[in-house]
Amino acid sequence: MKINLMDLSCDELKELVAKIGEPQFRGKQIFEWIYKGAESFDDMTNIPKGLREKLSEIAWVGSAKICEKYVSEIDETRKYLLQLNDGNYIESVLMKYDYGYTICVSSQVGCKMGCKFCASTLNGWSRNLSAGEIVAQVLCVQKDLGERISNIVMMGIGEPLDNFDNVLKFIELVNAPGGLNIGQRHISVSTCGLANKIRELAERKLQITLLLSLHAPDDERRSSIMPVNNKYPIKEVMDACDLYIKETGRRISFEYTLISGVNDNPEEADKLAALVKGKLCHVNLIPVNKVQETGFDKSSKKRVEEFKKRLEKHGIPATVRREMGSDINAACGQLRNRKQGL
Ligand code: SAH
Repeated sequence: MKINLMDLSCDELKELVAKIGEPQFRGKQIFEWIYKGAESFDDMTNIPKGLREKLSEIAWVGSAKICEKYVSEIDETRKYLLQLNDGNYIESVLMKYDYGYTICVSSQVGCKMGCKFCASTLNGWSRNLSAGEIVAQVLCVQKDLGERISNIVMMGIGEPLDNFDNVLKFIELVNAPGGLNIGQRHISVSTCGLANKIRELAERKLQITLLLSLHAPDDERRSSIMPVNNKYPIKEVMDACDLYIKETGRRISFEYTLISGVNDNPEEADKLAALVKGKLCHVNLIPVNKVQETGFDKSSKKRVEEFKKRLEKHGIPATVRREMGSDINAACGQLRNRKQGL
């Protein structure tokens, strides 16, 4: 199988060209071309033709193709349905903030975690994305936008920590100087709580932000909406989070999707506060996005405010996630489901 050059770091590209008898600096040039948006060897004009031909026999430059694009008239949020080289579809979302552009990328084709409120998992999991396929989302959207993307959140389709090695490689690639040069503190990874992988991540001592999708403060309720909780119950996840905070010194963000009548009672706010109290953390409340098939409804604005106030009364810093692109609403996973007739 041909190598996707987008999967390789600058050092790996140098090794590759050395292996085919070329000077190493060519590897660096190729790396820079990729991050300047070159999608084929022909674009790499300072690489000798002979080398381009040799490379094209063993390698290719991955890319993602824009299939559908929706731009919000309210806040310029863009949602993209992208097609990968093998025909699979994924989604990326671009959000505009005061401090710059943030892209939300997918890490897998589908998802096997089975969260009851989530569209991405409705039809199961097909495969992991390679590191280069995650990079391709950033490059493709950045090219379409024509401006620099400065922040990345891994909260698109898939469970990033279920694709651990490729996700870490992706972080290394976008972090690299000479490439996108996006600092680790500008990268967030969201997980449904794979405790063993959170521990592994803690040991790497990266400066990225960890977002923990909690969504319920006790095991019974959490297991009823997030099957992963049967494998890694709350206590184990919290212990892993403590380790993460200890090893990295980074504040964790607990994500809490408010679903009407499911997890938005005042008592649940109390339990949540007790659970996270004393941790270096903050709670991000997200009114659930309606997904037709799941039957869940978002909590009323009043209910959300009350929940937030209750947390604050306990001394827990909480924010309500601003809804973006509400006029192009398609909670992640829905564009792909529709396209594939799933
Ligand atoms: N698998 C990872 C990342 C992808 S989901 C995780 O679970 O964290 C990104 C975030 O969106 C998670 O917090 C997830 O629980 C949340 N989410 C999924 N479906 C949603 C919906 N319909 N409305 C609001 N948030 C949702």
